[in-house]
Amino acid sequence: MIIKERELSTQLKKLFALDKRSKLLNPQTNSIEYRMKGYKGECQFDALIRTLKCDCLVLNDLMLRVNGQTCQIDTLVITSKGVTIYEVKNYEGQFVYTEEKLKILTTNKEISNPVHQLNRTTNLFRQLMQEQKVSFPLSAHIVFINNRFTLFQAPIAEYFIFPTMLSHHLMKLNNIQKSLNQSHHRFADMLKHLHIADVNYTSLPDYNLEDLKKRNFCKVCMSELEHSHGRIWKCRDCNTDIVSHKVILDQIEDFRLLFSDKKLKTGTIYDWCGKAFSKKSIRIVLSKNYELKGQSKASYYE
Ligand SMILES: [Zn+2]
Repeated sequence: MIIKERELSTQLKKLFALDKRSKLLNPQTNSIEYRMKGYKGECQFDALIRTLKCDCLVLNDLMLRVNGQTCQIDTLVITSKGVTIYEVKNYEGQFVYTEEKLKILTTNKEISNPVHQLNRTTNLFRQLMQEQKVSFPLSAHIVFINNRFTLFQAPIAEYFIFPTMLSHHLMKLNNIQKSLNQSHHRFADMLKHLHIADVNYTSLPDYNLEDLKKRNFCKVCMSELEHSHGRIWKCRDCNTDIVSHKVILDQIEDFRLLFSDKKLKTGTIYDWCGKAFSKKSIRIVLSKNYELKGQSKASYYE
């Protein structure tokens, strides 16, 4: 049972909406791409966790404050056997583990070691459990979710879960027969309650409407959409077909997110969508989903 869903913070939603329309303008592109990739990896892991058949409670993307320090957990699963913390990494390519350091094989560039991060998270979480006077067994894993990830000289350690080990790990969880009791549910509710929502840890770069790309983008993978035929638009990257009124609605949502101070007008959205739809189609979508305010030329939607 999922107790807490993974959600994008408004801040991150804004960054994503901005990033796909302003690649060159954005000095933070690297960090955004990194965040986006991380988020997609977490969603991939969520899809696997959702298939679990055992009695369990799942909390995604928890942000906790323990003794003045922030503790961020990608996925937390509570079963009758205890609590498991998962740190999900969507690294892609060849890496090498040497002297407790994680390096990119080709460049020898060191990246932050997820083991250190996991140890920190585990220690903080243990403190929190002590504070709350609960004593479930605690385990923690780093999940490398990307099939195209290789780690040379990886230590044989329980905390690493490589793509080839995932199905076995899930099977082990599914073999847990015992049901959860009240104390597990109470603990899960308490964690959800302690979660700090919407921490703004990235500042938005400056942007204005004129400089942004006026195109249509996929809501799922953020790639640019192509018109297929009739009312159907296609995303080549995630291979989805989207009907035009949904495409328009998605672009409107991005517009509202980025320009909450601007009025929603047919002409504005017509330009925002790269003039790919008729003004009539845009008016229909706007009038079905928003309320018309004002009269004739000065009218807008809210
Ligand atoms: Zn897509």
